[in-house]
Amino acid sequence: MAPNVKDVTSGVLYEHEEVPDYTRVIAQDAAKTPPKSYRELQPILWDRVVAHALVHLTAIYTLTLVFSGEVKLLTLAWAGVLFFLGSMGILVGAHRLWSHRTFRAKLPTRIALALMQVISWQGSIFRWSVDHRTHHKFVETDADHVNARRGFFFSHIGWLLMKKHPDVAKYGKMVDMSDMIADPVVYYQHKYYYAVWPFMFYLIPVAVPMYAWGETHTNAFLVAVVLRFVVGLNATFLVNSAAHAFGSRPYDATIAARENPLVSFIVGGEGYHNYHHVFPWDYQASEIGNYVTNPAGMCIDFLAAIGQATDLKTVNKDMINARSVRTGDGTRPVWGWGDADLSREHKGMAVISNVVEELGQARTGLPLGPTGCAAIAG
Ligand SMILES: [Zn+2]
Ligand SMILES: [Zn+2]
Repeated sequence: MAPNVKDVTSGVLYEHEEVPDYTRVIAQDAAKTPPKSYRELQPILWDRVVAHALVHLTAIYTLTLVFSGEVKLLTLAWAGVLFFLGSMGILVGAHRLWSHRTFRAKLPTRIALALMQVISWQGSIFRWSVDHRTHHKFVETDADHVNARRGFFFSHIGWLLMKKHPDVAKYGKMVDMSDMIADPVVYYQHKYYYAVWPFMFYLIPVAVPMYAWGETHTNAFLVAVVLRFVVGLNATFLVNSAAHAFGSRPYDATIAARENPLVSFIVGGEGYHNYHHVFPWDYQASEIGNYVTNPAGMCIDFLAAIGQATDLKTVNKDMINARSVRTGDGTRPVWGWGDADLSREHKGMAVISNVVEELGQARTGLPLGPTGCAAIAG
């Protein structure tokens, strides 16, 4: 089967930069090899299907326990704390710090983020980042492990239930990971991931509610481990599925990644995905980041305030404007008339009434009439 490459490329970081033509490389390679179906290339991994079905069903059962009031409120709050810490390990650490190098962090912060990242059980930082950098470089091709062109279910969790497409490993090797290998925190986190994992994923999450407020082991395990894991996993997956399917594309209408504030709210600020795919090196991962829908951005600002994060990168407004006008779908938000980002095209489209009175007022300084217009036209 020919790869589902697109004929329009994207991924330009600077306006003067050449478009990297990775998709053409894939298309040329594919033309040399006999076509194979997805079914042949990516057999379903039934053990994973069964495991994920069981863990999801257990999470649903746990929800019934929670709503029947059998779980202590402190245990629920603890699961929330673990969800937050694990999410920040992924979003601030694996994603914005290591995958995209949007800022630099001091050693104590890198160690803390590396430990927090284990709470979520999404693979080591190195493994996570190889796939994520490949997702950005080869977005929406077969080399993208969560290829959104294969539908919502595939990009959400289907990809995890089958063997990865061979292109993911093949083209993943083209992605430079030398900076990550050079970081001892990443290196040792990868090497000792499963030595640390039992403590971060299971033992500490269960021990705290059991010994601090007398929760049962079953409830602690079901809520602080299983339910929290399933919610965290699906929240992260929403970025690959929902944020590649629903929303506007103000910065690049040629890619599937979308602006989805609801996903941002659920996933700590990662739903402004059209912006993120166009400018992946911005530490706020959004143009209009606010702390309610971007807690990962808030954490990085906090780390900067205490001297733990440096070299925070954002995009200059002129560059965003130029890119948005050139490739966006025209939905980029502005606060109103007079916003510096309001495009010339949109200004030209404006119909302005009562201009004579307004100008008259400005010219003559006449007092306003009862309707707010100048009392006498100038
Ligand atoms: Zn994406
Ligand atoms: Zn990213």
